[in-house]
Amino acid sequence: MENPWEIAQKQFDNAAEKLGLQEWLRLKLREPRRVLIVSVPVRMDDGSLQVFTGYRSQHNTARGPAKGGIRYHPDVTLDEVVALSMWMTWKCAVVNVPFGGGKGGIRCNPKTMSVGEIERMTRRYTAEIFDIIGPEKDIPAPDVNTDAQVMAWIMDTYSVFSGRNVPGVVTGKPLDIGGSAGRDEATGRGVYYTILNYFKYKKESIEGKTITIQGFGNVGQHAATLLEKDGFKIIGVSDSTGAIYNPAGLNINELKEIKTKTKKVTDYKDAEKLPRDEILFEKADILIPSALEAAITKDNADKIKARVICEAANGPITIDADSILREKGITVIPDILASAGGVTVSYFEWLQNIQSFYWTHQQVIEKLEAIMNTAFDSVVHLAEEKKVTLREAALMLAILRVAESSRCRGLYP
Ligand code: GLU
Repeated sequence: MENPWEIAQKQFDNAAEKLGLQEWLRLKLREPRRVLIVSVPVRMDDGSLQVFTGYRSQHNTARGPAKGGIRYHPDVTLDEVVALSMWMTWKCAVVNVPFGGGKGGIRCNPKTMSVGEIERMTRRYTAEIFDIIGPEKDIPAPDVNTDAQVMAWIMDTYSVFSGRNVPGVVTGKPLDIGGSAGRDEATGRGVYYTILNYFKYKKESIEGKTITIQGFGNVGQHAATLLEKDGFKIIGVSDSTGAIYNPAGLNINELKEIKTKTKKVTDYKDAEKLPRDEILFEKADILIPSALEAAITKDNADKIKARVICEAANGPITIDADSILREKGITVIPDILASAGGVTVSYFEWLQNIQSFYWTHQQVIEKLEAIMNTAFDSVVHLAEEKKVTLREAALMLAILRVAESSRCRGLYP
């Protein structure tokens, strides 16, 4: 079972069963509230027209407006976007921010498109989903292959259509138009706090602990930088083009410079080159998958040698792989907890936009750390109490919170 939507629903069903959730809530929460599919016609630089397919899924809005990123990728599908929107509902609930879950995407290959083409595609997509987004309805953010610039185009298009400035319609904006200090690094920083929390909980020292990272985009780079500074040794990193490995440790600053310059981690000199997916199978204390879904499946889970997997990506481990890892005694720190730093600082950004009052970087990271610590403690507490895995505990905690909001609100009509 590798379809992300089947995985998301199965995870939900398992957790709902363990919680003994009422039947009507089970039926309601296992489906998305609303999904919009749009055609996005774009005039390409050579004068031709291409029509891309775009999606926006709002899984649940019981606790607040839908919240979640928009990704540009050739493999985007309806099932993927809907699954990711359900995971966003749980992620927001785990860190207890007052948002529901949403996700969007356009099936396209931005790596072969010009900046102008990406801008026109972004603006037309925004126009097509205009009716269902907004600061009180659904707030997009960056995700795979989208960044602060894409958010600025969405904010501008939405504001032009609205006849006024609406910074709170997206988060992850550039600082000059209402972005938050610390948003760019927030997901990676959340992963970092989660790993610190884990070793504190295990009463283990972090000095010299080894880490491999699959994916060296925004999340992987920021997590690596912070972890290296604290004494962790990053011994292997991959990106879509290949992997590098050096048991003595990689120099993350140098590696980031190379990645920015040539786009390939394999241009880093002082390391052995490996085929891309081999990074998953190297021996390390912690493996951080920070690329796409379903990186670890029943076909390769058996080869994993890391002791702990901290999911920085959304949905990197399939259900079958999860059981194999459990049997092997590998601890998985789940995505909806570990990768929640981004959406937490998105919440801060949205708050700052409403108040038109901006916080310092220090204020942002202190508040982020406090929220990540509380979420970690709550998940661990529930896992111990119910004798379940961290993933099950995180899902149970989240589903309980969302179910309680749905229950109070009742069913319309
Ligand atoms: N795309 C990020 C995620 O998957 C951030 C979402 C947000 O900030 O709304 O968590």
